[in-house]
Amino acid sequence: MEDPVHRISDPDLEIVLKKIRESMGDIILSSDLQETIPGFRTQKGIYKPQSSQYALWIRETVKGPYPDQEPLWLPDGSWLYRYTPEGRNGKTDLNLGTNQALMNSLDNRVPIGVFRQKNIPGMKRTYEVMGLAYVEGFDGTHFIIHGESIESTDAPMKPSSIKPFQPFEVVELNRSVANPVVRLRAFQTAVRRIYHERCSLCDLGYHFQGRPIGVEAAHVIPVEDRGTSRDIRNGILLCKNHHDLFDRYLWTFDEDYMVHVSYDPLFRKSALKNHILSAEGKRLQNLPDSDYDLPAIEAIRFRFERFSDVR
Ligand SMILES: [Zn+2]
Repeated sequence: MEDPVHRISDPDLEIVLKKIRESMGDIILSSDLQETIPGFRTQKGIYKPQSSQYALWIRETVKGPYPDQEPLWLPDGSWLYRYTPEGRNGKTDLNLGTNQALMNSLDNRVPIGVFRQKNIPGMKRTYEVMGLAYVEGFDGTHFIIHGESIESTDAPMKPSSIKPFQPFEVVELNRSVANPVVRLRAFQTAVRRIYHERCSLCDLGYHFQGRPIGVEAAHVIPVEDRGTSRDIRNGILLCKNHHDLFDRYLWTFDEDYMVHVSYDPLFRKSALKNHILSAEGKRLQNLPDSDYDLPAIEAIRFRFERFSDVR
């Protein structure tokens, strides 16, 4: 299947789109983006290269006319949010070239890059790279922007029709256009955002210069068992310690998101001073806001069985 970025029909712009996809989730100084992303130095909201009928990227600034809205994340790693069109004299004007370019992207399903300004105290102007997205519609006041799914050739999932969870990888590698590294990164980024950048078990979440530190997306059904990376319902965000213990089946959680810890007496003795025993029998502290983003029952059962075998 063809990579959707090809639809922009300009090899140079295609490279820029791929670069934006590959840096999904990065926090980047505006001055660095000005060096690497065409138009970033001069254009504020929507950028349409002269040579193209399509928009190449959009950005949302903190001082934009509308306050920040957090995107809505879906199980396939796609995200939805509303974007204000450009206006003239304080009024939306869809005839402006930039808005028209977004309409063209909508009509031909050409992906665009999306950047959001982050306000980080003590730091120069920075942006979060949201990744690539489709313009999905115009609701009368805003463009509806829908991020790519983890498997970039799949049409992004809609909140009104959440697809059933597929626990295991089914896509043959030659059918997937996504570079496995980029795909895993999309999985990591989506899980990180859905879990508010904090460990699900202990709620730890360090940040430095706007970037989360010490948390990792774990697969509930392990990758070695063909557990899927294209659906965040096979994911959970953990701090490095709790990820390591999770990987060794020293703890897991049940269908009510209650924590179970290994009975191994020496492990328990070694864990006396640590968080893991105080979490035993309690519900995971940090879970996604939307129920449909929670770890899937099939994945939880798979892991619980393994855990019970070694417990
Ligand atoms: Zn933790």
